[in-house]
Amino acid sequence: MSGENATPLGFEKHDHKACVVGALAAAEARCAAEGLRLTPVRQKVLELLLREHRALGAYAILDLLRDAGFGSQPPVAYRALDFLAEHGFVHKIERLNAFVACAHPNENHSPAFMICRLCDAVAEAHSTPAKGALGDAARAAGFQIEKTVVEAEGVCPACVDKADA
Ligand SMILES: [Zn+2]
Ligand SMILES: [Zn+2]
Ligand SMILES: [Zn+2]
Repeated sequence: MSGENATPLGFEKHDHKACVVGALAAAEARCAAEGLRLTPVRQKVLELLLREHRALGAYAILDLLRDAGFGSQPPVAYRALDFLAEHGFVHKIERLNAFVACAHPNENHSPAFMICRLCDAVAEAHSTPAKGALGDAARAAGFQIEKTVVEAEGVCPACVDKADA
């Protein structure tokens, strides 16, 4: 995974307030442009996932929704997550069976995730599935890659000291 534009967001110091506001605004604008309905519960789920660059499981989201006064019907949370994932506002992290808000909501992309095994922080970079060894193998096999799942597990900068202890 290399490339100048592969900037991980979650592990770097950045203006997170602007990051949240920007992502919510981008989601609203895209829904308006594409005629998608960003219902209050969908928006709330996205907002919850944007709070931290950390993956949340469906049950954790359900708890937070209940705390926010949205009731606690699992199908409501699942349908909201399905919608957000289908349209690329959030991604599912298979490794954690959890969801994370997309860090690049305006770009058509194949995400690649770096997952901290100590604090579950997640950073998203771009992957280029058609390049590299996998791309070469696919071309040799006449295979067209449509989607890849790239999830790297390791230790984030904030946890490096803990990992040594
Ligand atoms: Zn942020
Ligand atoms: Zn993304
Ligand atoms: Zn960490």
